[in-house]
Amino acid sequence: MAYAIDETHDQNLKSWVESANDPKNDFPIQNLPWCQVFLDDEDQCVVTAVRIGNSLVLVDVLAHVGLLEEANSGEFSAVEACDEQPFEDRVKIRKQLSKLLSADCPDLRDNDELRQHAIIELDDDNLVIPFFPGDYTDFYASLFHATNVGCMFRPDNPLLPNYKHIPIGYHGRASSIVASGTSIKRPVGQQAPAEEGGSPGFGPCKLLDYEMEMGVVVGRGNELGEPVSIEDAEDHMLGLCILNDWSARDLQKWEYVPLGPFLAKNFASTVSPYIVTMEALAPFRCPAEERDAADPQPLAYMDSDANRKTGGFDIKVEVFIASAKMREQGMEPVHLSTANFKDMYWTLAQMITHHTVNGCNLQPGDLLGSGTISGPTRGARGSMLELTWDGDPFANPPVIVPGTQRTPIVLPTGEERKFIADGDEIIMKAYCEREGFRRIGFGECRGIIEPARTV
Ligand code: CA
Repeated sequence: MAYAIDETHDQNLKSWVESANDPKNDFPIQNLPWCQVFLDDEDQCVVTAVRIGNSLVLVDVLAHVGLLEEANSGEFSAVEACDEQPFEDRVKIRKQLSKLLSADCPDLRDNDELRQHAIIELDDDNLVIPFFPGDYTDFYASLFHATNVGCMFRPDNPLLPNYKHIPIGYHGRASSIVASGTSIKRPVGQQAPAEEGGSPGFGPCKLLDYEMEMGVVVGRGNELGEPVSIEDAEDHMLGLCILNDWSARDLQKWEYVPLGPFLAKNFASTVSPYIVTMEALAPFRCPAEERDAADPQPLAYMDSDANRKTGGFDIKVEVFIASAKMREQGMEPVHLSTANFKDMYWTLAQMITHHTVNGCNLQPGDLLGSGTISGPTRGARGSMLELTWDGDPFANPPVIVPGTQRTPIVLPTGEERKFIADGDEIIMKAYCEREGFRRIGFGECRGIIEPARTV
């Protein structure tokens, strides 16, 4: 089933929620992402909401009075709605919300009492993870990222022979997925020996890093033993959020052979507060990245005409840093990188199809990370590991510097960074722009690093 462009994407559509009509606001009526908000009242509960402008619309309240026919009244959950309802009804929920919030619809606009119950002002502190995470899998779908990293660790053999045949991934931990704004304690662990054959180090991670990724939230599961076809894969996706896959590089280097990442990755993963729906993203779809003529084509189970033509997402992703000193001095965060999600070697549909081809069952609320989003240029590298590295495998001719030569990032305070220091805040943003359509955004995914516990 394809996600169509319809009247909800009309760039001229305005809302009676005035802040949504500000061209600088990334949450116009064309966006309407899901989030979950903690209501600090007598009920002390977490409820589903939709963000519009600088306000949140509580979906339960609208469902309860019958203004959202397709939403189950009671406790509405976007993930459950996606799981239980036919595709057409999911689209209907978006259309009803869009209509209710549009400038000329009086149903909610002119009903003061209902509006007071259904709409609350945005308070970032009350936003929690926008879904209840089930399982978490992280992929490695950027050829640029994989090649950069491969060049550092294996200059003679950067890309392993399986890379262009299967979307590489590993199973992470859902228990340590945290909301944007949560402080992250620097992890402690074993580190690679200084010289080959030596003893490992132990202590706080010295090479702490971020990874700029997009995550897809699974809305509909599949039965154990029943793979999801490439044609049906997008039907299983509720929408996308920003994901920071915090990474301890010195722990990773020591532990990743032969079974892949473990403690270097599972101490924390931060997600943005919003799920931008597949419906909202319809105008920003693009072809899957075109493979080099010399590259193998995907096997038939991961190939389809639709995936080739519209399997990609044109989403700009940006990373910023602010040290504690910068914040004390009131300085703006410094821009580190800009990349585009359309440059991924594997599409999200291919990841879902591959994940289930053996019969593995995905469940509503599962999170699949895309892998670090990097592009062909230095300014498009989605991790510090890549950003401060002096090599360039995509230059002509390639420049590959073995070992650990790095150029630090110099902050406006004069501080230098090769990796993340205590007190640093990493801020990730993502947005979609296309001529003829209203820009929509994903909000921010933030986290400050706290010192490690004493060991
Ligand atoms: Ca990752």
